[in-house]
Amino acid sequence: MAAIEHIYIDRAVTGQPQVNDIIERIDVRSSVIDHPDELYDKIRSSQDPVATGKKVLYLTNNRGGFIRKCPGTKNYTCCDYMILHIGTFCTMDCAYCILQSYFHPPVLQYFVNQQKMFDEIDEFLAARHYRRIGTGEYTDSMIWELWTDLSQKLIPRFSTQSHAVLELKTKTTFVHHIQGLRHNRRTILAWSVNTPMIIRHNERGTASLDARIDAAAQCQKWGYPLAFHFDPMVDYDDCLDDYRRVVDKIFSRIHPENIVWISLGTLRFMPDLKAVIQSRFPESKMIYGELVPGMDGKSRYLQQIRIDIYRAVLSAIRDHAADVTVYFCMENEHVWQKVFGFTTEDRGGLPHMLDQSAIKICQLDPDPLPRHKS
Ligand code: SF4
Repeated sequence: MAAIEHIYIDRAVTGQPQVNDIIERIDVRSSVIDHPDELYDKIRSSQDPVATGKKVLYLTNNRGGFIRKCPGTKNYTCCDYMILHIGTFCTMDCAYCILQSYFHPPVLQYFVNQQKMFDEIDEFLAARHYRRIGTGEYTDSMIWELWTDLSQKLIPRFSTQSHAVLELKTKTTFVHHIQGLRHNRRTILAWSVNTPMIIRHNERGTASLDARIDAAAQCQKWGYPLAFHFDPMVDYDDCLDDYRRVVDKIFSRIHPENIVWISLGTLRFMPDLKAVIQSRFPESKMIYGELVPGMDGKSRYLQQIRIDIYRAVLSAIRDHAADVTVYFCMENEHVWQKVFGFTTEDRGGLPHMLDQSAIKICQLDPDPLPRHKS
């Protein structure tokens, strides 16, 4: 995990207690800047802007919305997820990370105007619809545990309502601060998992698979519901055996009744990420598989390869857990039919399927207002 070497503070947020608190905890050089371009120019002109963007922390205000709809991908079945936009980028370094080419330039950024965030959360929760929201789309949810008390504020806030769940998704083991918090099973701790081979060659600075499962087992002991995301699954010799072993390891420690959902997704990336992977991860072989452009312009495996991987992993999961909810992140209905034997429409739609699982595992109110249509 990259260490922060310099903190840049937006002049508009200087002196705020939260800013002072973070500066004290990180204890590196800090500078006040009037405009983010001062920082962006430094990052852009460095030899490896992605690596540089992971070593500087920019503290600023979120001037847009904290709560956003997940953009999804056109032509693929979407789960109607909401994003809680706490900050951007990550101190870990995965070859396939879309954030490397998503931000121009990529910069580790944390939003400190949290009164606005909690006002938006209050409004969001007041609607009393089933909702699933997570902080792990534009960053890793738990890297911020090292320097902030964010989870210690968010988890109790979500515990006081009964129709929405907060998902904290990570590849770290930074869970010690959430022990003893009042959560009421309304916060899901989720781990992205992969085979040890993929982790070793493509996920720099992340926790090992065993360490992630240990952390999940710890959270299970504290009563938190859990989720696992097999994403991106990569096709290589013996990958099916390796993915089966990952499944077996998870179920050797985790009870199916504590798993809200497991998502499956195979490797996919926008064409401009390929050059970034080639130059930053020359040892990675993942971009050289049988990849074709999908309906959304992203490169992905041929459909039959995807189906074969999904079938193998689903079968491994079903050997341990007949009922746990498994879904695809961004797949078409034909693949759903081929792998699961039904389409999402047959089950009332993917958002409904995931809401039902949250109702059951997170013990949500079974009778809130109808789902909000946005
Ligand atoms: S952990 Fe997630 S956010 Fe961080 S570099 Fe890896 S893929 Fe990107």
